[in-house]
Amino acid sequence: MKAEIVAVGTELLLGQTVDTNSAYMAQQLTTIGVDVYFKSTVGDNLERITATLRSALSRADFVLTTGGIGPTLDDLTREAVAEVTGRPLVFDQRLCDQIADFFTRVGRPMGENNRKQAFIPEGAIPIENPVGTAPGFIVEIGPRAIASVPGVPHEMRHFMEHAVLPYLRQKMGIREIIVSRVLKLFGIGESLVDEKLADLIAAGQNPTIGLLAHTQIGEVHVRLTAKAEHAADAQALNAALERRVRERLEAFIFGADEETYEGVLTRLLHDGGLTLAVAETGFGSSIIQTLKGLAGSDRFLKLGVTLTAPAMGAALPGIPAGALGDTTILGEAAARALAQGVRQFAGADLGLALTGQAAREKAQDHVVQIALAHSAGVESLEQRWPHAMRFVENRTTKLALAQVRKYVLDRT
Ligand code: ATP
Ligand code: MG
Repeated sequence: MKAEIVAVGTELLLGQTVDTNSAYMAQQLTTIGVDVYFKSTVGDNLERITATLRSALSRADFVLTTGGIGPTLDDLTREAVAEVTGRPLVFDQRLCDQIADFFTRVGRPMGENNRKQAFIPEGAIPIENPVGTAPGFIVEIGPRAIASVPGVPHEMRHFMEHAVLPYLRQKMGIREIIVSRVLKLFGIGESLVDEKLADLIAAGQNPTIGLLAHTQIGEVHVRLTAKAEHAADAQALNAALERRVRERLEAFIFGADEETYEGVLTRLLHDGGLTLAVAETGFGSSIIQTLKGLAGSDRFLKLGVTLTAPAMGAALPGIPAGALGDTTILGEAAARALAQGVRQFAGADLGLALTGQAAREKAQDHVVQIALAHSAGVESLEQRWPHAMRFVENRTTKLALAQVRKYVLDRT
């Protein structure tokens, strides 16, 4: 089946809003084997939306629109679909009741123009919207169809999952269920993962293996995707492949699916009954910011300090006079002294310090100093990154957290 996506909205055309919906829709369509041949973006103009839909329908079996089905005057997708399909807009009482229900639920009065949203092309399959006000619809024209869903991204995703994909699966006679499992890795690059799994990736039909590098957070995600008529069978297929992937990469896998690095670390510290205190300088990253927002972090994070003036390092109780040097808190010795100082001051099991010097020009490296103080002493690590490396702040934070994770895991 050939599909085409039409994103409607002047804000998209002008680049004020990035059209993330089309990317998501294309990915979703691809997972069920629908080929996306064209994507277009068109402003809130009836004539041009109509023309765009006409050419889309001349090429594709399935046209999917996003945006422009709201209550306001510039929401014109529904009129354009009515025009190209030759199906006049008719009032649907059920949709109107559903919109009214939504307003009752959120305690707001329903405006007269919201009634407009209960009009859909004659004979269209209505799609209710439990997450917002704009209902969607699918109009079938012989073997072809146009589906219109809202522009608000989370509403669009809801429509895709609950209406559009099930509709297409049924139309294409797909009975299989797709189940994915994502293994999350840190401390290894995408190309090395690719190398280690090359034979499994090449052999992968069901399940398949897909790699995704999340450079911004320094993680590589390995996605296993299995198809079967029943979810349990697909899960079993993924589980068998997961065992083989773990045999090769276990040391780098920190979590799966919805888990995050920080979340997993929080659990480790909590289960280990360990407390942590953090001192960092103004490198840009923030371990404290990352940790303090996590549910349950108040149970292990006893203290977090950010030092921006060197003099404050010496003023911190627990740091011996002269340990930080006179003018700098950026070197290895300072990191070690800070880690020990903050640990002692807070009475925590672990003291973590992060300092370093960000590169200011091309020829320089970013130099990061991380130290972890514990009951048996203090360990430190220097990491250099080239000036051009992006997301140094995030990577640095992650690397510091990785020292804590390593300590906790080695201990058990
Ligand atoms: P609603 O009735 O829920 O407003 P709508 O279909 O009229 O639905 P729009 O008014 O076009 O939706 O857009 C609503 C919001 O969603 C806007 O903030 C817009 O920037 C955003 N949005 C619209 N289309 C896209 C898109 N393709 N990608 C990302 N964001 C989008
Ligand atoms: Mg709009």
